[in-house]
Amino acid sequence: MDIIRLVRSAASLTFVLMIAAAGPAAHAAESAGLIGFTAEAAKQQRRLEADYRAKLSAEDQSQWSEQLTASAHHAGSAQTRRNVELIAAAFREWGFDVAIEEFDILLPVPLERSLELLAPTTYKALLEEDIVDGDASSAERDAVLPSYNAFSPDGDVTAELVFVNYGIPEDYEVLERYGIDVTGKIVIAKYGKSWRGIKPKLAGEHGAIGALLYSDPADDGYAKGDVYPVGAFKNASGVQRGSVMDMPLYPGDVLTPGKPAIKGTRRLSLDKAPTIANVPVLPISYRDAEPLLAALGGEVVPTQWHGALPITYHIGPGPAKVRLKLAFDWQRITIQNVIARLRGSEYPDEWVIRGNHHDGWNHGAADPISGMVALMSEAKAVGELAQAGQRPKRSLIYAAWDAEEPGLIGSTEWVEKHLKELDAKAVAYINTDGNGRGFASVGGSHTLEAFFDEVLNSVSDPQTLVSVAERLRAAIAVNGTPERRKDMESRETLRIAPLGSGSDYTPFLQHAGIASANLGFGGESAHGSYHTLYDTFEHFVRFRDPGFQYGVALADMAGTATLRLANAEVLPFRFAGLVDNLQLYLKEIEELAGKQREDAERINKLLREDSYALALDPQKPFGPPGAKKAVPHFNFAGLKNAVATVATAATRLDAVLQPGSIAPAVLEQVNRELYRSERTLTAEEGLPGRQWYRHQIYAPGFYTGYGVKTLPRVREAIEAELYDQVDGEIETTAAILRGFAAHLESITALLVSG
Ligand SMILES: [Zn+2]
Repeated sequence: MDIIRLVRSAASLTFVLMIAAAGPAAHAAESAGLIGFTAEAAKQQRRLEADYRAKLSAEDQSQWSEQLTASAHHAGSAQTRRNVELIAAAFREWGFDVAIEEFDILLPVPLERSLELLAPTTYKALLEEDIVDGDASSAERDAVLPSYNAFSPDGDVTAELVFVNYGIPEDYEVLERYGIDVTGKIVIAKYGKSWRGIKPKLAGEHGAIGALLYSDPADDGYAKGDVYPVGAFKNASGVQRGSVMDMPLYPGDVLTPGKPAIKGTRRLSLDKAPTIANVPVLPISYRDAEPLLAALGGEVVPTQWHGALPITYHIGPGPAKVRLKLAFDWQRITIQNVIARLRGSEYPDEWVIRGNHHDGWNHGAADPISGMVALMSEAKAVGELAQAGQRPKRSLIYAAWDAEEPGLIGSTEWVEKHLKELDAKAVAYINTDGNGRGFASVGGSHTLEAFFDEVLNSVSDPQTLVSVAERLRAAIAVNGTPERRKDMESRETLRIAPLGSGSDYTPFLQHAGIASANLGFGGESAHGSYHTLYDTFEHFVRFRDPGFQYGVALADMAGTATLRLANAEVLPFRFAGLVDNLQLYLKEIEELAGKQREDAERINKLLREDSYALALDPQKPFGPPGAKKAVPHFNFAGLKNAVATVATAATRLDAVLQPGSIAPAVLEQVNRELYRSERTLTAEEGLPGRQWYRHQIYAPGFYTGYGVKTLPRVREAIEAELYDQVDGEIETTAAILRGFAAHLESITALLVSG
């Protein structure tokens, strides 16, 4: 029983205070060993970590942040060049071998943006964000990118407007019941509930010819809190920029899918690039959205569709008629990743990779610089320790990625370029991005779940001085759903979330099959500045992480993980956690199929019995849903058996992964096979219709974008009602899992015979 559990059962305040008073060294798991280390090596590692932690400086982070956010630094900008130089020089000073790796990519920037309401009244959208008091950065005009959605096509479209709520699949089902067809129309959708690129994709698939996106004040404006500059939330002029590239198909340079965007790579022609959005799309402020929405007629929206603007929301179509005109410079630019290497003392050909992007939409103080300066803090401390003789055993690669915002481009091109070497050498990839105040958040490969639980137990929360694991457990106990609470109580370790997409871990995990994690803090700082002109240093130090306390905590958390991965005798991959999560996903999918079957049967029965005709208001044009496809019973046995096979193999392997007991002759091979285990969860042929995504456990949803779909072949076939494919996808996924189990058994065999 560890100290955390004692504290919880005793609930003794004095005891808690005693621990806190002992300072950050007295962490919950301190007395225990470390996964992958002998008891003696664990002691040494703890000492190293204490030295490491002592070197982390909030002052450093604040200074770097001010420098890196001095001007807008989107990919290709002058400030980006300066930042690359600054970051590269810093890494060199800290003893790293630094390379700047360039790629030549497509990045459209706006030449013309105009939006007009033509009828029944007229309004010309301002498409400008205000200069606000106390934020000098918001006055910068020359260097900043105007608000736009990168990878919208050019277009000049005039049509009636339709309000589509969040523009996600279920919203179109509601529109269908109203008998509203968006064919030939321009849709206006709220930001939220899905990744933004899904909205124009769905609009286009439903026949719309253009799309407008806006942030309703109900979601991150005055309905949530005071708006900027009084508070942190979105003011009337703020606009969320962002990419609408079809990243669920493939991320990275749109012209070079699966290949690095370097000299000699054949490029697609612009009109053949499948990830450019299919309709022109523009993000606007709620100040610009309000007159458009107010001019809509037709039915009043369903209750759940209302936003917080002082109008009655109508669906349309019309009489509001708008003209949207967009033209872009489809330029090719050179992007620059900073790659800093620290050669490992014992295993130079095993790489632990740490990354954060450096490009922002504008000043990008929260996204990405808050994560970038935490990474720099970490690299500085690790570099200094190495110079003082405490060099990590495995090689470290610190990466500052360019062009993440337009579509994970810098990281994707780098992974595509180095795929072979990464396949052989990459142990794990740890990502960070924007950081905030609050609770630790860890998403990642479940083979590292026990490992990250231990890391979270070793890092102090700066506000409460308990471990960030303890604080997270308390938050779940207080605010979690009953299900989440029960789940937490039933397991030894904190569950880590599976990764979908949304930052630079995607090419590592889902293309290259490298075990990955995404780390950050959040939950106590507001998000109204996300991708607006107001993601500035001024905003950040007032509302996001004053004093960079959580910047230090992030460097602590990510650095602790990096150093343990670098120094562990036996790499800390353990497989029981993966099994438990696979069982959970399988159960979810069975329940999904069951629910879909029940729904279909119920709806079809109600249709047969004419119940909708009787229940619905005959004076309103809200009709019955369409008949549902009958859902057959699927045979999940193959998948269940495969998970059971993995469970057996995992139990056997976990039991013999004892540091100190492995013959030196096989240790290196065991470690290599451990980190390569994630590769065996991938398939060369990728996922159906998207070959680039190779991982068979985790994928971003084809119609959710960032949201993860676990066991994606099976889950998405059921969701998309492709019922005749489900049994085949079950078998394909089962075969992958059997291969994975065989891989684990081969490691066990090595250990037992060695
Ligand atoms: Zn970011």
